[in-house]
Amino acid sequence: MSLELQGMGVSRGIAIGRAHIVFHNKPDIREYLVDEDKIEQEVLRLQQATETAKSQLKSIRDNIPANAPTDVASFMDTHILMMQDSSLTKIPTNMIRTRRCNAEWALQLQRDALINVFDEMDDPYLRTRRNDVDHVVNRILRFLADENGHEHDVTEARLKGRIIIAEDLTPADTMLMQHQEVGAFVTEHGGATSHTTILARSLGIPAIVGVGSLRRYIQDNELLIIDGETGTLIAGADETSLAEYRERRNSFKQHIASLNRYKSGPTQTREGKSITLQANADLPEDITTISNTGAQGIGLYRTEFLYMNRTSPPEEEEQLAAYRKVVEGMNNQPVTIRTFDLGSDKTVDGGRNLNQAATNPALGLRAIRLCLKQPSMFRTQLRAILRASAFGKIRIMFPMLSNMQELLQAQHMLKQCMLELDHEGLDYDRHIETGAMIEIPASAICAEMFAKNVDFLSIGTNDLIQYTLAIDRIDDHVNYLYDPLHPAVLRLIKMTLDAGKKHNIPVSMCGEMAGDPKFTRLLLALGLDNFSMHPNALLEIKRVIHKTDMKQIPMNTLSIMDISDPYDAELFLEKINSHVH
Ligand code: PEP
Ligand code: MG
Repeated sequence: MSLELQGMGVSRGIAIGRAHIVFHNKPDIREYLVDEDKIEQEVLRLQQATETAKSQLKSIRDNIPANAPTDVASFMDTHILMMQDSSLTKIPTNMIRTRRCNAEWALQLQRDALINVFDEMDDPYLRTRRNDVDHVVNRILRFLADENGHEHDVTEARLKGRIIIAEDLTPADTMLMQHQEVGAFVTEHGGATSHTTILARSLGIPAIVGVGSLRRYIQDNELLIIDGETGTLIAGADETSLAEYRERRNSFKQHIASLNRYKSGPTQTREGKSITLQANADLPEDITTISNTGAQGIGLYRTEFLYMNRTSPPEEEEQLAAYRKVVEGMNNQPVTIRTFDLGSDKTVDGGRNLNQAATNPALGLRAIRLCLKQPSMFRTQLRAILRASAFGKIRIMFPMLSNMQELLQAQHMLKQCMLELDHEGLDYDRHIETGAMIEIPASAICAEMFAKNVDFLSIGTNDLIQYTLAIDRIDDHVNYLYDPLHPAVLRLIKMTLDAGKKHNIPVSMCGEMAGDPKFTRLLLALGLDNFSMHPNALLEIKRVIHKTDMKQIPMNTLSIMDISDPYDAELFLEKINSHVH
């Protein structure tokens, strides 16, 4: 009998493949006192679990694909070293012998002690190392709980074509899997614009989020069908369904192939209005896909990947090399480098502890706030970006600005870095443009103030929607409230576009809304003429633009900003789109 589960389809495409279950949640830990005569047996249990966990990790490490980033190996080496460290071997062993704790309990006590030390560190980067302790301890605990370790790790090799089933995936996990030609992702949690979802889209992998009780229903290695558009997962499908989905998979592939005819030539509406289409890059590897789509540059280069899955912060030279590679790979097309947007769900590594304490990290020390608090990290990045600007057209963009002071401070630091480089005789583009991301309602309302002080604005709808509607973008409990058509969201977008026009500076949109074809016409009607999106969406958007005649867009389109009922707004949108086939 087949079983159908429903979630939110967040990355289009059909996948048919076997389940690969990845659950990171901590195994349940029972705490008990070991009988005197069983103590040595318990010590042996701990040693064996640690040894098995270590050899599993070594084998994963030895099978890392050759094209994976070098940081991945050093990330794992650190974990292997930690497993050998006396803090995780001798100390828990002593606890078993002296306090008669069972192995899990001893390991857990030592974990807590180590985490306390990390938590007290002043350096935020070192503080995040606590995640490594968790990662390593959980791996050993999993072997203690289940000697066969039947749950996998995302870093395992041989994931080609597999359907990853997880409670949640961090952007760092997704990155680790990117080279393995994974078939699809399905998670219990997550939202349409969580960074993992965005990565899945940019990798062109079908994905579904928010499927409750996945773990209860899906078994490892089971054959599954995934529809990343409708959000449907089918287990135990019969031959008829399999044949139907194979057919749909083929037509989807054909549709994608048919878009290739849009690759060359300008992007214009039917009546000849030129539109700029740029791509978002999340990883250096995206450049190849981007060059293949005919994008007119990169409208958002997310630099956070430089910080993920590694044990030390990236130095100036390493960053320079990464930025230079991108700008040189783009053959004189502009590259908009966004300064680090770390924090919230983009923690510095595998970051399982997304919600440390009771604060909401999305409202916390994130993006420009974190950079201004960490001037040496920020300066290193600014210097690297500036130096890379000697090799091609680069623009700098600051994320999550909530007031003018943040922008002025960031620009001041940039100036200082320029003076330093002058002093050191290092080359850079003296006319480098700076831009502000508009992704907080306050800055959209005050977009004119920002417009007067920057060369361009870019609307980040993922965060703008999150903050306007007060819904955490990674929380599946509230993702039903995610609504790009909410009149408040549309009005803020319009205000930003109008501010750009009034002050004669370009405004682009780089949030996911820009890459969703159902909003293209509406955005054109609102006055947007520069879209930046994940590369896999670009040709589809170009197709819609080519099929749009602005004169045929209903006169009253902008009245959608007055529709309060989401259902009515959807119907209205359908009317606007009714001429696109
Ligand atoms: C956004 O918020 O819309 C955006 C483009 O930035 P990010 O998704 O990286 O937060
Ligand atoms: Mg954002």
